[in-house]
Amino acid sequence: MKRIETLAVHAGGEPDEHTGAVSPPIHMATTFRHGPAGERQAGYEYQRESNPTQDRLETALAAMEGGEAGLCFGSGMAAMAAVLESLPAGAHVLIPDDCYTGLRVLGAEFLPQRGITASAVDMADLAAVRAALRPETRMIWAETPSNPRLCVADIAALADLAHGNDALLACDNTFATPVLQQPLTLGADVVMHSTTKYFGGHSDVMGGALVFARRDAFHDAVFHRRHLTGGILAPFSAWLILRGCRSLPARMAWHCRNAKALAEFLSTHPAVEAVHYPGLAAHPGHAIAARQMSDFGGMLSFRAKGGREAALRIAGALRLAINATSLGGPETLVEHRASIEGENTVSPANLLRVSVGLEHPDDLLADFGRALEAVGE
Ligand code: PLP
Repeated sequence: MKRIETLAVHAGGEPDEHTGAVSPPIHMATTFRHGPAGERQAGYEYQRESNPTQDRLETALAAMEGGEAGLCFGSGMAAMAAVLESLPAGAHVLIPDDCYTGLRVLGAEFLPQRGITASAVDMADLAAVRAALRPETRMIWAETPSNPRLCVADIAALADLAHGNDALLACDNTFATPVLQQPLTLGADVVMHSTTKYFGGHSDVMGGALVFARRDAFHDAVFHRRHLTGGILAPFSAWLILRGCRSLPARMAWHCRNAKALAEFLSTHPAVEAVHYPGLAAHPGHAIAARQMSDFGGMLSFRAKGGREAALRIAGALRLAINATSLGGPETLVEHRASIEGENTVSPANLLRVSVGLEHPDDLLADFGRALEAVGE
């Protein structure tokens, strides 16, 4: 079994058989020649169903997550919707009470139109999860660490609860990436990624992915849905994300190092009320994170003393870190989640989320230190 660093560099990356090119070709073709009665010549027919560049990425993602099959989509939301909307009408899904806002909206607005209900629960509280299960619960959806409060859920325990209820466990692994956490090896059935984030790694490509523990009927149903509803990933985007895989382990090590330094700095600062980072011993999910993750990731959030106004002043005073949504790129990004999530936000008003980038940690600490001092003046 190859290690993740080696898989990240080589999986799906065999040199092109015609030219020997070490960087894979980008196949832009929308259609592929077939025989008179539609006989496929090399396995492909039409880009919306599958294409060779995307196949390489799916191979790489499945290898890195330890699954049997990967499916790529045009965005993380397209991947998330495809898996949830493939559940049968009448199904119930448990989603985390702290999660990417898009999942909450999907559960409130879109899934009910398909006869699927979603209810939110604190995924860190196993007794609450057990109590929230219904006979018709067909999926538990975990997101760990979660967006934006960095809550940690015990993946192996959730897998047991799901399977005991004849349900699947899906896990949004966007924050951790398979470099730090591999939910399928802990018992999850499906892993979801916004590959827009760390996989792409440069804030310049949109994508989503699912990796399935088994290439089974559920996988086939999601594949069929993607084919017919058209959420496919464009070849150039697949190529960029595949390129991102190659450096993902190296980048994650740097993100983790910087996030730890910033979390420790913020946690002792008098203008900061609380820091949410699973790498801090005081984080309620620290022990579980230490067990199921190899490091604690590049995402953190913190709450400013002085409420919403203080948080906004800190965000506005940063000079190196950029005020922008999204995460996983080389540049440090800061956002006031409640403002971005809008009217129905459940994010605390004084919370700032930080995607800690790849700058030198001393420069980052200086920027945050100066911005926090400015608020105190
Ligand atoms: N999951 C998480 C944890 C996210 O942070 C995001 C986007 O921010 C998504 C899913 C959605 O992904 P995308 O923006 O690629 O549709």
